[in-house]
Amino acid sequence: MGLIVQKFGGSSVAEVEKIRLCAKRARDAREAGHDVVVVVSAMGKTTDRLIELAREANPDLPKRELDMLLSTGEVLSAALMSMALQAMDLPAISFTGQQVGVSTTDSHTRARIASIDANRMRTHLDEGKVVVVAGFQGVNRTGDITTLGRGGSDLTAVALAAALKADVCEIYTDVDGVYTTDTRIVPEARKLDRISYEQMLELASLGAKVMHPRAVLCGRNFNVPIHVRHSHRPDEGTMIVAETPEMEQIVVSGAALKSDIGRVTLAGVPNTPRTAETIFRRVAEDEIFVDDIIQNEIGSGLVTISFTVEHAELADAGPCAQRIVDELGNGTVHIDVGLAKVSVVGVGMRSHTGVAATMFRALGDADVNIRNITTSEIKISCIIDKADGEKALRTVHEAFELSQAPNQTAAAR
Ligand code: ADP
Ligand code: ASP
Ligand code: MG
Repeated sequence: MGLIVQKFGGSSVAEVEKIRLCAKRARDAREAGHDVVVVVSAMGKTTDRLIELAREANPDLPKRELDMLLSTGEVLSAALMSMALQAMDLPAISFTGQQVGVSTTDSHTRARIASIDANRMRTHLDEGKVVVVAGFQGVNRTGDITTLGRGGSDLTAVALAAALKADVCEIYTDVDGVYTTDTRIVPEARKLDRISYEQMLELASLGAKVMHPRAVLCGRNFNVPIHVRHSHRPDEGTMIVAETPEMEQIVVSGAALKSDIGRVTLAGVPNTPRTAETIFRRVAEDEIFVDDIIQNEIGSGLVTISFTVEHAELADAGPCAQRIVDELGNGTVHIDVGLAKVSVVGVGMRSHTGVAATMFRALGDADVNIRNITTSEIKISCIIDKADGEKALRTVHEAFELSQAPNQTAAAR
């Protein structure tokens, strides 16, 4: 007998009938003798609809009030899930994030989990109940409701699993596991049986929506096995686990596309030891999430520094960059919109050469212009025009033969 955390995403709980199917999953786990904690997302597109309503009420979207509003989506699902479980004669109780002690940092709409008090959940689990928790939310030091950023119910689930020392965190979604890339763009993508936390973290950060990056990070930090599965199909899914030596044999494991990227360039700012520090301190003070940073010396004591952000951040990033240039006393700000990022990820890159060449050749053959390149130990990313995004993803997926089983995959040439 163990403890399982099951998380059901928005599309899995879009209607009461679907909630009932998810409730059956929880019942099966109970009947197999496990303690069960269920984490739910808001039903279907509820969060998007709530954001639209908020925009109607106040286009400035005041963040504290937005969190009050958005948190209700998950609360609704939690109450319905608990009712559905009780209707199956299974004792169950629903809670908000606050009620189960999910304490977060202060920042509204993108709070981080600071701690979780597992005692209340434990008491109810010990009484034989299924504990149902509203995902995506917590409470900050001032007692205000916060949310964890879009897709944040994944993080609630993995963090609860860590706090409760669960045996596994099951992420139930509308796809039957983690694929080599998004099957909506590349239908021949292949399902992976296992993937390491590091690779999943890169893929998630680079656009693979199936898991929230911070949820993967939390799983890695607390060693929580994560099992991604289809909510209404029996298939085995994908295990996200610690890296094993044989994973290094596979040069590229997956590819991802992130659309709607903007680039902020501070051109011709002074080339001094404090310039980069000043820029990114100010950017951090404004709580702007930076993706990649690119710096080039342009001579005459000047340097050009660019950073990429998601489009949503541009409203804050543009004015922030202008204030920085004014503070530095020299330079101009340029904003590029309509960019995308295509990436390949694989731990095998550490020990194989030629991966970058294969990727660039494939993109070149497909006539995709590369605007910037960034690399890490296990990924290569190219900033491209958004219009080329899907073509580029299909191209790199094919170039690395990702739809074929790994033992047939050619190493980078
Ligand atoms: P949920 O509502 O359950 O949280 P999401 O929509 O957030 O579900 O994530 C699931 C979606 O992620 C899938 O429908 C799929 O289109 C997308 N996705 C992107 N990349 C991948 C990938 N590599 N593997 C599986 N799904 C992916
Ligand atoms: N409901 C929230 C969202 O749509 C959180 C989640 O689904 O994980 O982003
Ligand atoms: Mg999600």
